[in-house]
Amino acid sequence: MNTRRNFIKTSAFASAALLVNKLDAAESEKFANDFKTKVVKPIVLSTWNFGLKANEAAWEILNKNGKALDAVEAGVKIPEGDPAERSVGYGGRPDRDGHVTLDACIMDENANIGSVACLEFIKHPISVARAVMEKTPHVMLVGEGALQFALSQGFIKENLLVDESEKEWKEWLKTNNYKPVVNIENHDTIGMIALDANGDLSGACTTSGMAFKMHGRVGDSPIIGAGLYVDNEIGAATATGHGEEVIRIAGCHLVVELMRQGKTPEQACKEAVARVVKLTANRKKNLKDIQVGFIALNKKGEYGSFCVQSGFNYAVYDASGNRLIDAGFHLK
Ligand code: ASP
Repeated sequence: MNTRRNFIKTSAFASAALLVNKLDAAESEKFANDFKTKVVKPIVLSTWNFGLKANEAAWEILNKNGKALDAVEAGVKIPEGDPAERSVGYGGRPDRDGHVTLDACIMDENANIGSVACLEFIKHPISVARAVMEKTPHVMLVGEGALQFALSQGFIKENLLVDESEKEWKEWLKTNNYKPVVNIENHDTIGMIALDANGDLSGACTTSGMAFKMHGRVGDSPIIGAGLYVDNEIGAATATGHGEEVIRIAGCHLVVELMRQGKTPEQACKEAVARVVKLTANRKKNLKDIQVGFIALNKKGEYGSFCVQSGFNYAVYDASGNRLIDAGFHLK
């Protein structure tokens, strides 16, 4: 009896389990197929107009089945090396004491990270960040130490202050009004995130930071979790705008975690912006003085963005070509 009851119980359980297993198998097959058919790769996204040129360099690598890590480094080096781009790398605007100080970070699909902050005299801080990642036991080097490390790795010491930036700085010195101007014009940090043909994600972020900032000021761009975050199971995000506000909410980590909870890239960016808006109100600050923009990409190659106020755009390059997209914004 006991045996029979047990048998019935066991077999009922076994058939239920079988059914569940079948459903599970069917479900996961459906998911796997959806994933296979829907995934868009390779794909690369980057912030602002200069993202178009940067994407071209990244696409060269992605299109030949290259690694997302190599693509994002090569991509952001374009505006870094261009003296006409006055908010990134060579040509960047100086701090209020006349020093061009650069911030950059990089992250790969295995959560390897490298970062430099307040680095002077080196044209490509992103490559120094990559060297920190690959050649040191650390994840972040700053200031003089970062410069010493760069020189030890063969990077060349150069003057990064171009005439136009120097002129602007001297003009600014006349008023010497230390109030970081909200940069809602079309030139800013370049953040780039990419999904390669192998399905791996990486990201890079590099900037000269806020023009005429205090000497030693570091923004969000070299801070993993703030200006950039990559989780190879979920997606990647990068930020531009008022670094202090991005750091306050650990912005890009937040965006990736929101995608983990099932949000689309755009919903995740929108919710992170809502967090900035809320904290700004709590702190009784004027939202009009703040710009923050996020772009995000998930593991399926879906992407999106959102920002506080209008004016932010980003470039996307995939099999359909390279184009600029205006981000949605909160402050109407
Ligand atoms: N996020 C950068 C910083 O705060 C600057 C920017 O993107 O406008 O340094």
